[in-house]
This record gives sequence, C-alpha cells and structure tokens, in this order.
Amino acid sequence: MSRRTELLRDMALQRMKYLYRLAIEETRRERYDLARRYVELIIKYGHKARVKPPRYIRRGYCRKCKIPLIPGLTSRVRIQSEGRGSRVVVTCLLCGWKRRYMIKTLERRLRRE
Ligand SMILES: [Zn+2]
Repeated sequence: MSRRTELLRDMALQRMKYLYRLAIEETRRERYDLARRYVELIIKYGHKARVKPPRYIRRGYCRKCKIPLIPGLTSRVRIQSEGRGSRVVVTCLLCGWKRRYMIKTLERRLRRE
C-alpha cells in the first residue's frame, strides 16, 4: 500500500468514526433523521474511499432503517443458547430488523474495546 493510499485510508477511518459519534449523539436526542443521514454518509464515504468501516460501526447500525443501534434505546440485545454455542440477537426497536452474532465474536470485541 502506498503512503498516499494509507493516508487516505486513515483519513476515511477517522471521518467514519467521527460521523458515527455524531450519529450516536443524534440518536440519543431522538433526532433519527439526522442520525440516519450520518450513517448514510459513513456508508457512502466507505464506498468512495474503498474503506470498510470498523466492525463496531458495521454492526452498530440497523441495515434496514440505518439508525445507530444503542442497547436499551434503539435496540434490544438477547442471548440465545442453541446447540453448540450461544448467539447474541440484536433487534432494532424502530423497524424490527434482527441480526444474530456468535457470542465468540462479541467476546473478542469486548476485549478489544
Ligand atoms: Zn431498523
């Protein structure tokens, strides 16, 4: 990767993190339209810069209504045990969209933060 690409990549990441923070703030103020606009900017920016947003951002918004998922506010988090392992089920409280994750990835994520 060239120095320039690296720099652009880093700028894109910083920008996405910043936009996500704004999106969270607006969600807390229940200004969902604004929050959604920030999330859409992150997605658009990621495509343009060809940079994947960090995982906490990729998993931190509803794929359907583009609202940041905040547990207890815009999302409900449940643990589901099934067969070999447990899963985390995240439900968007605004549109009902659901996403399931293996619990292992969540543990890894918690360790990193
Ligand atoms: Zn939703």
